[in-house]
Amino acid sequence: MEGKTKQTAKWLSKSEKPIIIAGPCSAETETQVISAAEEIALNNQVNIFRAGIWKPRTRPDSFEGVGIAGLPWLQRVRNETRLAVTTEVAKAAHVEACLRHGVDILWLGARTTVNPFAVQEIADSLRGVDIPVMIKNPINPDLALWIGAMERLQKVGIKEIAVIHRGFSSLSEKYYRNKPAWQLPLEFKRLFPHIPMINDPSHICGRRDLLSKVAQKAMDLDFDGLMIESHCDPDQAWSDAAQQVTPQALQVLLDELVHRSVQEDSDRIQNDLDKLRKEINVIDDELINLISDRMRIARNIGLYKKDKNVTILQPKRWNEILQRCLDKADTADLSKAFVKELIDIIHDESISQQSQIFSENKK
Ligand code: PEP
Ligand code: MN
Repeated sequence: MEGKTKQTAKWLSKSEKPIIIAGPCSAETETQVISAAEEIALNNQVNIFRAGIWKPRTRPDSFEGVGIAGLPWLQRVRNETRLAVTTEVAKAAHVEACLRHGVDILWLGARTTVNPFAVQEIADSLRGVDIPVMIKNPINPDLALWIGAMERLQKVGIKEIAVIHRGFSSLSEKYYRNKPAWQLPLEFKRLFPHIPMINDPSHICGRRDLLSKVAQKAMDLDFDGLMIESHCDPDQAWSDAAQQVTPQALQVLLDELVHRSVQEDSDRIQNDLDKLRKEINVIDDELINLISDRMRIARNIGLYKKDKNVTILQPKRWNEILQRCLDKADTADLSKAFVKELIDIIHDESISQQSQIFSENKK
């Protein structure tokens, strides 16, 4: 029986790479869910169907999901296609309803991961239940919260866990809907190499024309899968219309992805890489030495400012530093955004070292 195979399958295993999850942001009507699932099931690369039943919306009076009425629609997808089904749960009542309706995989949304009370409530309702769970990153760039949510689920015995990188809220980000901050998922992967890491380009980009670039980057960074929102009539979707793609566009996007190997097996590749990596190591050493020299001079300036009783931050000078560096970005083949971020971090550290000098042996 189809249902039985689905129950015993390992959906979130790294060996089933890439794990491809697709479906509409929200379940809207039974016809919309079934037609999306039928179209998506034609694409053999997709193994899991997603649709939000309970939608955490930022403002009231937006469409908040069809609720429990949508679960039989997911059951139909499960019975009538080869796809497993997944939906977002945000509290114990959602979990219980999903378990009653045979949902294959649950996921925790970004607004849930951020709240340890909600995560614990969900974990408690899953004690002793054998069901795979995916955990989206919290909305704020806090790795410990993300790890904490995973640990809460592990502690109640959930064994099949994957995490989803969907980007982070940020005041400064303009290009993406949610800043990718790739260093966070990469650090998660480094700490927990056995946990599959899935990328959600839809919620990072917020607009469909950027999806393939982000999806390709995730593949190049050895992510284990993708979650992409797909709707038969994206512009008419009841939520997240700008970021959804038709099942046909999804097929093109997935077909065009380049999958590179992480294996460095041949000797030649290994030697070439070793040579380049040695060069990188030399440059990293130089970078650290240069930054250390810069900090030493900054501390001397700090001593001088303290002696002369002038403030640490001199806005005119800070503008000048920033402008000089930004002017060099183009010829150095670096983006202005990157140079700004780098100089900001270095300048922050200079300021904090000077502040330390100001607070030491106060005159
Ligand atoms: C979603 O997947 O539709 C969703 C609400 O995502 P997130 O929790 O990443 O905002
Ligand atoms: Mn969505």
